[in-house]
Amino acid sequence: MPLPLGHAAIGLATYELSAGTSAFRRWKRFVFIVLLANLPDIDVLIGLFFRWDGNAFHRGPTHSLLFALFGGLLAYYAGRYWLKILTISYRQSALLIFSHVIADAVFTDAPVSFFWPFELYWSPGHSGWTDVIHSIIFDGFRDGWIVLGCAVGIVLSRFVRRSLEPTRSLPQVIKK
Ligand SMILES: [Zn+2]
Repeated sequence: MPLPLGHAAIGLATYELSAGTSAFRRWKRFVFIVLLANLPDIDVLIGLFFRWDGNAFHRGPTHSLLFALFGGLLAYYAGRYWLKILTISYRQSALLIFSHVIADAVFTDAPVSFFWPFELYWSPGHSGWTDVIHSIIFDGFRDGWIVLGCAVGIVLSRFVRRSLEPTRSLPQVIKK
């Protein structure tokens, strides 16, 4: 499954492609994008805190289209009025959260609760604190190919953007 590193890379590429500007220019915006791209996995923390099992509520309501739309709205207002991040729209906030759901659905076999509340899936098995921490620290390298793919996507999008920019002409010096 994509881990925080992979989701962060996908989120950064999603922002760059949707905004047409670099996600790396401002640190506050960068951190915000990484957090939004990982927000659906807050259900792992909830499971760990309340059931001592990261899988207890994993891939439920937070991995749905509705959560992306609603969470995106809250994130948009929090970003704009609390954190003063003015360059992330509501559409982008929802898209960043939704990029996580799509990535989980595409890169793993276990289903996500895409159309919750009309469908609901939970992640199978048990995952304690040490399993989750071990997975984040030691299994992150498995996301290397996702990071690489996103990096290529970002570089290509910058290349296309630059080539589409109107050519700038040097100021003409009019000699009289
Ligand atoms: Zn997830």
